[in-house]
Amino acid sequence: MCKDIREKFAELYSLDVNKYVEKKQGLSYLTWSYAWAEFKKIYPDATYEVKKDEQGRCYFGDENIDYSDKDSLGLPMAVLAKYIKETTPNAKVIFIGPCTAKKAEAQLESVKPYVDTVLTFEELQALFDSRDLDIASLEEGVLDNASYFGRIFARSGGLTDAAAQAMKEQNIDFEIKPVVCDGIEACRMALLKLNKGVLDGNFIEGMACIGGCIGGAGCLTHGEKNKAEGDKYGREALEKNISDAISLLK
Ligand code: SF4
Repeated sequence: MCKDIREKFAELYSLDVNKYVEKKQGLSYLTWSYAWAEFKKIYPDATYEVKKDEQGRCYFGDENIDYSDKDSLGLPMAVLAKYIKETTPNAKVIFIGPCTAKKAEAQLESVKPYVDTVLTFEELQALFDSRDLDIASLEEGVLDNASYFGRIFARSGGLTDAAAQAMKEQNIDFEIKPVVCDGIEACRMALLKLNKGVLDGNFIEGMACIGGCIGGAGCLTHGEKNKAEGDKYGREALEKNISDAISLLK
């Protein structure tokens, strides 16, 4: 490493960020927005680059499991964003969720035209705080037209339940044998088994975060209670089937 770079790293290492470090799922976590803001204070001209392959897709992979991101237009954020842009002229699409990975997904050439920006729940809370808004004191609105299965999608096992239900509603004759992966290690193991031809299943639900998206890095809370709350919210849905919910959009 050249001296110049070593000095720069030494300067960065000397920053005291302890008061901004949170504990999540047994890990120390520093928000990307804070880290980047601090970096820009020292290097105002700094930029960052998301590495992509020759088709403009964000590249990540593991030579043992032979996996890389294929096409994100089949994923929920991209599909819904495309639908909104195509049906609502001049709409701005802001994805708000627990997922930091969505920031990279939104930069894929296939997704870029449909998603204008991505915010995590943490960033949204920071915006509320910056305006002294206490949303807990505001009247609660009704969020509707998502089926039970759309609402439980975010917890481990929810995607599998939704896929099985979708096939049932569409009379698709397929006996699903799911492998529910709770966390990135479980995903890696399932893909490794798939690659070796020893996976005992025909459908992989890969949730990189423990517990599913409800355990995502950008969530404000993490805990068992989240799953119970999510299921309760699912049971409150007026539309019990996926097709009932989708028919409202047609
Ligand atoms: S499981 Fe985690 S990484 Fe995967 S979509 Fe949900 S929040 Fe994002």
